[in-house]
Amino acid sequence: MLSLEQFISTHTLGAAASTPGLLTAAYIIAAVLFIMSLGGLSTQETARRGNWYGIVGMTIALIATFFHPLVTEGGGYGIIITAMVIASGIGITLAARVGMTSMPELVAILHSFVGLAAVLVGISGYLAPRNPLKPGSVEANIHNIEVYLGVWIGAITFTGSVIAYGKLRGKIASKPLMLPGRHFINLAMLIASIGLVLPFLAANSPSEGTWALLVMTLIALFLGYHLVMSIGGADMPVVVSMLNSYSGWAAAATGFMLGNDLLIVVGALVGSSGAILSYIMCRAMNRSIVNVIFGGFGATNGNGSNGSSHIEGEITQTSTEEVGGLLKQAKNVVIIPGYGMAVAQAQHGVYEITNLLRDAGAQVRFAIHPVAGRLPGHMNVLLAEAKVPYDIVLEMDEINEDMPETDIVLVIGANDIVNPSANDDMGSPIYGMPVIHAWEATDVIVFKRSMGAGYSGVDNPLFYKSNTRMLFGDAKASVDGILSQLRA
Ligand code: NDP
Repeated sequence: MLSLEQFISTHTLGAAASTPGLLTAAYIIAAVLFIMSLGGLSTQETARRGNWYGIVGMTIALIATFFHPLVTEGGGYGIIITAMVIASGIGITLAARVGMTSMPELVAILHSFVGLAAVLVGISGYLAPRNPLKPGSVEANIHNIEVYLGVWIGAITFTGSVIAYGKLRGKIASKPLMLPGRHFINLAMLIASIGLVLPFLAANSPSEGTWALLVMTLIALFLGYHLVMSIGGADMPVVVSMLNSYSGWAAAATGFMLGNDLLIVVGALVGSSGAILSYIMCRAMNRSIVNVIFGGFGATNGNGSNGSSHIEGEITQTSTEEVGGLLKQAKNVVIIPGYGMAVAQAQHGVYEITNLLRDAGAQVRFAIHPVAGRLPGHMNVLLAEAKVPYDIVLEMDEINEDMPETDIVLVIGANDIVNPSANDDMGSPIYGMPVIHAWEATDVIVFKRSMGAGYSGVDNPLFYKSNTRMLFGDAKASVDGILSQLRA
């Protein structure tokens, strides 16, 4: 068995060069599978395959890690197996229980684990006794910067994710925390974090540099807390995606520190895909990514009275009988699903309606807004689960121009994504957000339970338009009612 000193010098700091060939090959295969997984997840047809690539890649990575010299020669099997059994038990239980609508919360809390792991690995890597690198040497400085960066990003990710989880779960108020001079506070913390790197690098031994690392960790923990506390609830899903990106960069920095190529590749994949996703979500909501990151925007008042101008018109209620009759006449139907369809779990009934209408010769298509629901792709997952064919599920931009030729639009549990104020009311908080032009169809049926506002807390003039009829009630009950009408 190697001594701890030999073991660190051989594997921790130069593992890339000395990792056995089989291990390197396994890591490369796993990395390729992760890339193929991301590619697969980009379309619905290949998503299932993409998921499998990811599962196989992760299994290979785990098995390979088991045979990593750090484990085989370090003798840590007992600890690793115990930790894996406990963690798998918690993970399986949580994943089996969580509903699709709570997925962002689960993702947020999982990111906090990645952040915490980066902090703990970084600090313990620094404190590892008899660090063989010569203090002040280029290698030692590079290694220490990797530690510092990994801990810094990890600490921000940890507290930021815990706060994001609390806000999504409703345990912390979604209102943004607006401390006076908050941008200045953030800047001061950033400067202090950069400044502390000097005494940290100048230290001749871990005992001299630990204080700087720990003070920076505390600052970063507070920075993560403050950054996310300053963000309103409405922007929280974008923040979760940003934290996903941060967790990837933290993992990549840890990978550099440990000389683990796979961790570097995976961290970079997670970091960049999270950043791209955040950008796509911001664009879909017409929000600036800078505003989202630095906060103070995206507050909801949740009382449904946030519209800037008085809405004119009256509400027309309808019944499942009437909607059934209208659908029997329709030749061209567009279904716009939203968060309410997910809550009601109405997708299977919606699929049956689709089949009946298609069998009767009507064209039925789905219009998907990029942020319909509570996480990107939410609607696509539900529709795929209900076996709706992919070729009739269209993106907002693909279907918007067909709205004027549509006989009837069924808005099922969607609200903000069909709000015309985003298009024509410059004073509206959601002005500029691209939306589906449901109101241009001949008839619009809105399935919801009340006149309550959507996620953004903004009133919706669509409900008051002369061609709109409101079908009040739980979306599943309404869909089932229409199904009986169509079958009659
Ligand atoms: P909304 O939150 O705007 O509206 C959902 C509607 O569903 C509500 O008005 C609610 O009305 C109704 N509803 C809830 N439960 C039921 C039920 N059981 N049966 C029938 N209706 C129900 O959702 P959208 O999908 O239209 O828009 C998504 C919102 O989320 C946007 O504001 C978007 O910006 C935001 N968002 C989405 C992200 C994403 O990645 N997808 C990310 C960030 C934000 P009622 O209570 O009256 O029934």
